[in-house]
Amino acid sequence: MTHTRPHIFSLDSNGLTAALKPLGLPGFRAKQIWQWLYQKGVWDVKGFTNLSVKDQQTLADNFDFSPLAIKVEQKAADGVVKWLFTLHDGHEIETVFIPEAERGTLCISSQVGCTLNCRFCHTGTQALARNLEAHEIVAQIAMAKRQLNDWPQQNEGRKLTNIVLMGMGEPLFNYTNVRDAMQIVMAPEGMGFGSRKITISTSGVVPEIKNIATDLGIQLAVSLHAPDDETRTKIMPINNKWPLKELMSALRSFPLKEHRRITFEYVMLKDVNDTDQHADALIKLVDGLPCKFNLIPFNPWPGSPYLCSDEARIEAFAKRLWRAGLDAPVRKTRGEDILAACGQLRSESSKRNTVSLEFPSVVRVYGDDKQKAKLGSVKVQFEDD
Ligand code: SAH
Ligand code: SF4
Repeated sequence: MTHTRPHIFSLDSNGLTAALKPLGLPGFRAKQIWQWLYQKGVWDVKGFTNLSVKDQQTLADNFDFSPLAIKVEQKAADGVVKWLFTLHDGHEIETVFIPEAERGTLCISSQVGCTLNCRFCHTGTQALARNLEAHEIVAQIAMAKRQLNDWPQQNEGRKLTNIVLMGMGEPLFNYTNVRDAMQIVMAPEGMGFGSRKITISTSGVVPEIKNIATDLGIQLAVSLHAPDDETRTKIMPINNKWPLKELMSALRSFPLKEHRRITFEYVMLKDVNDTDQHADALIKLVDGLPCKFNLIPFNPWPGSPYLCSDEARIEAFAKRLWRAGLDAPVRKTRGEDILAACGQLRSESSKRNTVSLEFPSVVRVYGDDKQKAKLGSVKVQFEDD
């Protein structure tokens, strides 16, 4: 029965209205149900007190209300919370909450694993297990709100204010589900996240990029990581399929909303992409494009083929970009800059600089139950803590 019932998080409000009709429930019930689900955090039909017991039962019989199972919940001293969720088929995904003074950001996954094999990324070493369903993407956000008890009456009191699709997977290779999920979390009658508050990060799936503007209007981040095809292809095989010329042309024609910029993520790899020449080539590459850079110190993992650039080199690189008028914060400290840094979480209990708890890697690094038990007791820290 569970498999034939649609998950309640998979339906937008029109979809739910339509699904309720043949069950004899009028359209206005959909609005009430959404209020319980997304504004009050009540997911047990017995708690839907403005519905009759009969209607509650009809809902329970026809929709799946099950939450994600929490395998591990880790809380760091600085307020970061990390969850390892188990999906109905046993796969595991990770979601991370990063509180800051002015906002709280949730970093979510779009796939189990990734097909893209970027050489610096631990997820790239895992085969793709599958795409996440739209309801599994919505559920990461709903679960985080539930665990944080984040159901204030007013928007101002919210703990979770921003969402970044920077976890496991390439969101544009699961575009339809990502789009459907974002439309659900953006709907004002539900969780009501504004388009400015959501950022999607892509490694450069050129044909899908324009859809982000047309369908969702959310913020765009691009994992650039190199200013020339030779370097980029070496570290990101996707560049063979969609080389820089095509990527940059898609970005130059991307219909940016007023006062918005494209964010470029740039991981600092020692002697690979971090020279002054690379910086100068980058400046040329993005000339005239409204953009900013996030310079991310590489987070090594066991067997990773690269080292992080030296601090002095990163600083020199950043300064070169600054002098050319580009915003290029180094993702080292908390605050503003933590947004793109979900991949930078790491385990204190593991030797620093050897094990990455970067988002996707956790499933692999802590592959067996003993290791997972260990994961439960570690403290998450940031690069500069
Ligand atoms: N697949 C998407 C989104 C997930 S990756 C993408 O590639 O954009 C989120 C960001 O973390 C990307 O910019 C990625 O390049 C970066 N990243 C991955 N592994 C990393 C590592 N070991 N150290 C630093 N950044 C890393
Ligand atoms: Fe996939 Fe992004 Fe990692 Fe590349 S950086 S392997 S696209 S998750």
